Formats: sequence, C-alpha cells, structure tokens
Amino acid sequence: MRCVICKHGEVKPGSVTVTFERGEVTIVFKDVPAKVCDNCGEKYIEESVTKELLAKAQELIENGTQVDIRKFQSAA
Ligand SMILES: [Zn+2]
Repeated sequence: MRCVICKHGEVKPGSVTVTFERGEVTIVFKDVPAKVCDNCGEKYIEESVTKELLAKAQELIENGTQVDIRKFQSAA
C-alpha cells in the first residue's frame, strides 16, 4: 500500500507508540499495531485498535490515573 500523505513511501506493518494527553493526564501505549510509512513516518492505525485505545485511556482517566505508560494488549 502506498502512503496517502507523501504519495511516495511504502506503508509497512509495524508498531507505534501512541500518546494521549488530556489536561493533566498523559497516557502512553507502546507496541500498538499499526502500518507505518517508510518515507514520512505517517501512522495508520486501524479503527478497531483506535477504539480500544480510547476506551482504555478513558478507563484509566476515570480511575484517576495521571501518567501511565503501558504495552498495548488487544482484547480481540
Ligand atoms: Zn508517507
């Protein structure tokens, strides 16, 4: 698949780090499965993965977490 951002790079499967920042809260997920452009570095994360990340981040925020760095583990 060719990158839609730079139109030159090739998008390859890999893993990325995703950071959520909301006010005082910072949550970092490592090893999130994604496709990454080998030219510009644009990340393509599947919608189902994004949803899981958002749900997990919301849960942590509701539990009063301020800073959290964790490995992403898909529930799927
Ligand atoms: Zn690109």
